[in-house]
Amino acid sequence: MNYQEILEDIYKSIKPELKRGKVADYIPALARVKKEQFAMSITLLDGTNYSVGDVDKKFSIQSISKVFTFTKALNIYSKELYKRVGVEPSGNPFNSLVQLEYENGIPRNPFINAGALVVTDSLISYYKDEYRALEKILTFVRDISNNSSIDFDEEVAKSELEYGDRNLALAYLMKSFGNFENSVEKSVSTYFKQCAITMSAKELSRAGLYLANGGVDPITKKEFATLSQTKRINAVMLTCGHYDASGEFAYHVGLPAKSGVGGGILAIIPNVMSIAVWAPSLNRYGNSHAGTLALEEFTTKTGLSIF
Ligand code: GLU
Repeated sequence: MNYQEILEDIYKSIKPELKRGKVADYIPALARVKKEQFAMSITLLDGTNYSVGDVDKKFSIQSISKVFTFTKALNIYSKELYKRVGVEPSGNPFNSLVQLEYENGIPRNPFINAGALVVTDSLISYYKDEYRALEKILTFVRDISNNSSIDFDEEVAKSELEYGDRNLALAYLMKSFGNFENSVEKSVSTYFKQCAITMSAKELSRAGLYLANGGVDPITKKEFATLSQTKRINAVMLTCGHYDASGEFAYHVGLPAKSGVGGGILAIIPNVMSIAVWAPSLNRYGNSHAGTLALEEFTTKTGLSIF
């Protein structure tokens, strides 16, 4: 298969779509990102990489970080984690408060904001303080990327905290139900820092490789998750990775994937490759508009999906 040619064809056909949708404007630092940018990068299990567009340009991975913290929390807590967060699609927007109220403070899944906040809170409990937890999260992301330079953007994290009322409200609501262990301010601020991690499409596609290979990095041979944990992480990505558009995404693309409001999407083809796509303009569900189309075109052209 000529992956490079396929990626270049996709880039060409996706160009007119880049002006559609709008960048996330509820985080002021993200509102400034130029719309018409695009990158797509695939990394095969042997490390071979094919890329097109602004592949080395760093972007805010935002909710894609939830996949990595979920992995860490599963490593630590195993099944116990599910006492605090479920694995059912929410059918609701990523930052919705409504469901949380009538479901007694137990978020539907680890990829909506409430669920990701619980996961970060659980890591802070385990590592005893928020600085250590953040350091462990960063170390994990550096390890899976095999790149010690990965870091977060202070300005984006600060900007999100300034307008973080809704996430703070989610955490306080969970605390009122007894499903939040640490200081709300500290946990939410750690969550914003993890969301503010910046990576290029090339780096992100490298980072996802362990999920395409049963939890083991095929290059460094380090184990980041067990086979059964990897099955579960990918399953939750497929069913919950795109908020209330998860069904539609699975229908069109047919891959486990996680989006972020920075316009990135990480998608996994088990036993074949990890894919990262970035196009900052979002559709009405908060998922990358052109990124979703690019992935659909990729699975259609290559015939590679999990179905
Ligand atoms: N940091 C963002 C928030 O909590 C993440 C949302 C996303 O990427 O979908 O609102």
